[in-house]
Amino acid sequence: MKLGDLFQSKRKYATVKLYKKEEAKEESPSLKTENKVDKQEETSEKPKKKMEVYDEKIWMKCTACEEVMLIKDYEANSKVCANCGFHGRLDARKRIETVIDGGSFVEYDVDISTGNPLGFPDYEEKIEKAKQQSGIEEAVVTGEGKINGIDTTIAVMDPAFMMGSMGSVVGEKITRMVEAAIEKRLPVIIFCASGGARMQEGILSLMQMAKTSAALARLDDAKLPYISVLTDPTTGGVTASFAMLGDIILAEPKALVAFAGPRVIEQTIKQKLPEGFQRSEFLVEKGFVDKIVDRHRMKSVLGDILKMHPSGGEIYE
Ligand SMILES: [Zn+2]
Repeated sequence: MKLGDLFQSKRKYATVKLYKKEEAKEESPSLKTENKVDKQEETSEKPKKKMEVYDEKIWMKCTACEEVMLIKDYEANSKVCANCGFHGRLDARKRIETVIDGGSFVEYDVDISTGNPLGFPDYEEKIEKAKQQSGIEEAVVTGEGKINGIDTTIAVMDPAFMMGSMGSVVGEKITRMVEAAIEKRLPVIIFCASGGARMQEGILSLMQMAKTSAALARLDDAKLPYISVLTDPTTGGVTASFAMLGDIILAEPKALVAFAGPRVIEQTIKQKLPEGFQRSEFLVEKGFVDKIVDRHRMKSVLGDILKMHPSGGEIYE
């Protein structure tokens, strides 16, 4: 029997608990009987049969090619499947680590917190839960740092925080960062990942589209570069505003980039959509995306672009 056959249900990586380093060293791939018993007690709701044969804190299965691999290998590879190159969703902090020079990142606006302007039921609880699960305060982390020694501002959206939805705080943080970039004459990089506008904030959420777009128009007037990086998934109000306004638009392989999702479109127009519809590769073909960049090459590509577009100097009319 292959190890892959032992995984009956498709587990998404997000549901896998983080393993502890020391624990992994002792237990690692050997799946011993004593360990299985411990794990079974911890997660008693799981079917017993499966728990006898694998440890979900150590192993995972690629959602694309179904290859079974060690979680620590997947993490070490920046959540890219070593077998098929599938790019998993990366959290904001880890993303910053992969592109910004070590020790150079300074975070902006850590103290802006989300209110419940419309009195939406259970919204505060949802925010609190998202904070605990993701370890960040809102669905975007903004700040400045260096890429290969070049100063830049950077915003990274986190799909783990309420699906990266854009509420007032997300819009405000991005706008403030763009304003800081204009003041300091720095380029802007935004890693987009979003389920769209945050419905719990209604119209206030939609207004962020206009606000961020207006700030980016001022950045454009100041002749500063804006690089937008589309990651899986970039949809809704984010696609309809700052995601598509980049002077240069990059995307990760096979990222879903859409306004409305494929299912909604299919149901509306009652037609089958072409293969690969709304994925990065399709969008490069149609001219929405300039280049698809592998996660491992992202830092060097961004570094090269920044080098070609120096922003700290004088403005030549
Ligand atoms: Zn894979």
